[in-house]
Amino acid sequence: MGKGLPKRSEDYSQWYNELVKKADLAEHSAVRGCMVIKPYGFSIWEKMQAALDKMFKDTGHTNAYFPLFVPKSYLSKEADHVEGFAKECAVVTHYRLKNAEDGSGVVVDPEAKLEEELIVRPTSETVIWNTYKNWIQSYRDLPLLINQWANVVRWEMRTRLFLRTAEFLWQEGHTAHATKQEAIDETLQMLNVYAEFAEKHMAMPVHKGVKTESERFPGALDTYCIEALMQDGKALQAGTSHFLGQNFAKAFDVKFADKEGKLDLVWGTSWGVSTRLMGALIMAHSDDDGLVLPPKLAPIQVVIVPIFRNEEQLKAISEVVDRIQDELKALDISVKFDTRDTNSPGWKFAEYELKGVPIRMAIGPRDLEKGTIEVARRDTKEKEVVAVDGVVKKVQDLLEDIQKNIYNKAMIFRENNTTSVDTYEEFKSVLDSKGGFILAHWDGTPETEEKIKEETKATIRCIPVGAVEESGKCIYSGKPSERRVLFARAY
Ligand code: AMP
Repeated sequence: MGKGLPKRSEDYSQWYNELVKKADLAEHSAVRGCMVIKPYGFSIWEKMQAALDKMFKDTGHTNAYFPLFVPKSYLSKEADHVEGFAKECAVVTHYRLKNAEDGSGVVVDPEAKLEEELIVRPTSETVIWNTYKNWIQSYRDLPLLINQWANVVRWEMRTRLFLRTAEFLWQEGHTAHATKQEAIDETLQMLNVYAEFAEKHMAMPVHKGVKTESERFPGALDTYCIEALMQDGKALQAGTSHFLGQNFAKAFDVKFADKEGKLDLVWGTSWGVSTRLMGALIMAHSDDDGLVLPPKLAPIQVVIVPIFRNEEQLKAISEVVDRIQDELKALDISVKFDTRDTNSPGWKFAEYELKGVPIRMAIGPRDLEKGTIEVARRDTKEKEVVAVDGVVKKVQDLLEDIQKNIYNKAMIFRENNTTSVDTYEEFKSVLDSKGGFILAHWDGTPETEEKIKEETKATIRCIPVGAVEESGKCIYSGKPSERRVLFARAY
């Protein structure tokens, strides 16, 4: 059926853009690089938020909210930080408009110039550390474990719905600690939270690793990340967790008195995932007929389509379906009974396929006679006729099975698209023939990393955590290397 989507194999990028629009996830707005997240898309994001928020709270964090505007002087306090974000900042210079004298509309009122210009937050380290300075005096105030759900603005030049937008929604965790080790442990704990969320909820396997110096977050000492593989063989950075050292404490003079009364700078971390995860979810699992959603994130897990010719038939079907619905709802399974008579069952089948609803059931007068119902799963498209009596258990089992199957499929895809290479020739040929992740030796220098990027467009996605030490030679320079790093062309 396909609802006229381009095929992934023919034009992956067009397939993605069309799918985002046709499945009612999001659309472009009048402002370049910004998007409208539509109700169906937003309900998936809400499911992601709910699961992540619970994981943050289970690990001791609480939510707070900090302002949208950052005084320009704050941003400049950490040298690397301002340098990293300067090129993509939106700046507020005035606070008022007035009617143009020539009647041509409204213009900025030159008299309403702000004394200090404000930056629309690209991230909130500066505002938050400026606040922490007042909140932290003693070791008793630590650790401070705070998260905020917010929007941020980064004036990106090449944007794409969800994956890279100028304004995006995210969460940003900002924590403060008394010791270096505690901050490092927190950084890694949140990396693990992200990896667990990606794997258990999004059904998307990820590599955990540390970024090279050139890809590090501006102002961090170490940036950890999760990296996922999309179906076109490109990688996507899906989340980051930064060890900030004492950089922001230094910039904002955040000190605490230890048990002996000695003053020391506070250690920090920050970590974030964004609406980019929506793009990752779509690109990792969906097919030429539409979205494939893992049950844990599907706003509608089960849809029931009645097949009827008249009110009487619908009434008889509804009696059976209402019982099924009640039982499913009691198990916290979200179910929709689509009784509209404005669209045919075939139209509805295609629509829910496009929307990625994991399980579709159909029931008509003949099923009623036999006490059966048809159950179809979105991931494999398999259909089965089952007894109405056992259908609730069937749905429970299927939802679990679909969640696992989607993960396994993505895992097998990743395994089939991860190649170890030992020469630069091989590296280039794998990149051009199948892409995917490439494990190769690298001499550890930014120069080599940059050359490889320039010549092949592949970047070092990360140095995998826990990678086995293995001595070898850098594929580019031939110099010695201690371990393989993960390369890919990426979004
Ligand atoms: P960062 O603060 O740069 O470490 O980014 C935090 C999170 O936001 C990461 O998970 C990124 O993948 C994501 N992110 C960064 N830039 C964008 C963007 N322009 N659009 C959507 N997500 C983004």
